Amino acid sequence: DELISQIAAGEVVERPASVVRELVDNALDAGATQVTLRLLAGGVRLISVEDDGQGILRDELPIAFKRHATSKIGSLHDLESVATMGFRGEALAAINSIADCAILSRASGINDAYLLDGRTGELKPVARSQGTTVEVKELFYSTPARRKFLKTDATELAHCIEAVRRHALARPDVGFAIWHEGKLVEQWRKCVVEGEPTDPLAALDQRLSDVLGPEFLAQSVRVDWHSKQANEYGQPALRVWGRAGVPDAARSRADQQFCYVNGRFVRDKVLTHAARSAYEDVLHGNRQPVYALYVAMDPTRVDVNVHPTKIEVRFRDSREVHQAVRHAVEDTLAAPRA
Ligand code: ADP
Ligand code: MG
Repeated sequence: DELISQIAAGEVVERPASVVRELVDNALDAGATQVTLRLLAGGVRLISVEDDGQGILRDELPIAFKRHATSKIGSLHDLESVATMGFRGEALAAINSIADCAILSRASGINDAYLLDGRTGELKPVARSQGTTVEVKELFYSTPARRKFLKTDATELAHCIEAVRRHALARPDVGFAIWHEGKLVEQWRKCVVEGEPTDPLAALDQRLSDVLGPEFLAQSVRVDWHSKQANEYGQPALRVWGRAGVPDAARSRADQQFCYVNGRFVRDKVLTHAARSAYEDVLHGNRQPVYALYVAMDPTRVDVNVHPTKIEVRFRDSREVHQAVRHAVEDTLAAPRA
């Protein structure tokens, strides 16, 4: 069982940033409003993700590391399918098999907190407020060959920051902090005030400015587009919003194209091509447009295949999505600027 987890982990955990992504995903799934990442040595020595989410009940803590561990695997064929499925539902089990892990958690409405040692399975009481901390130490300790593939701490740290950045751009309602070697390296505060009405586009603008810099905001225009067709709830079937950099944006950069589908960061040729074509007539040379675009659509019309090393989507009707994104960006660029 341990071996199977290790094989699955080897396929999907490329580097510390892959772990960071899974842990932050879990924190957000748990309803966290504040996520704090602490790293040592670019994440190789320690990755700790602390949240204030709903927590895990004492009796469910051991299951977190074991979910789907009931091994139905009996042949090499099955093993391959496990690896290619990535680790849907078994991220923690896989990570626990290649690092020294612990979970500390206090569930909402419960007065006690517990620490589960992933190695020994030992459970002991600890003190903490509501939420969960997952600690991952000495990643790849048992597979030195893999450890050798890692780059410098600075590079691994940059990848970890990038993984959090992608989440942060999707969740302006959540605060994020990143510490490395005891120093605060990034902090993005919650862009909503509890109990006060928020304009979601304004909150997003604030987050984009905090994460990508005020110049991104100054040199981009707001995208807010929706299709005329309605879905079964009477809402637009497709919505595209966010910000598109003006063509002459001085900081036209290759690494500032962010696309989200139903709240998930994705890399997708349909989306990038659509955005690129909207800029075709206005962007000269091989400049890259900068943008952060968010697509919301009927989840049954898109298949998001979440794999820790790549995030792919398959649209049921890619033409429809291509046109939507293209129109959304074109309309924005064509509109007179304020
Ligand atoms: P998945 O997220 O696909 O269910 P994981 O292996 O990532 O699989 O996590 C296993 C389980 O552990 C989750 O389903 C959840 O119940 C629990 N869990 C993990 N991290 C957290 C967290 N930060 N807060 C609350 N529960 C968590
Ligand atoms: Mg998960």
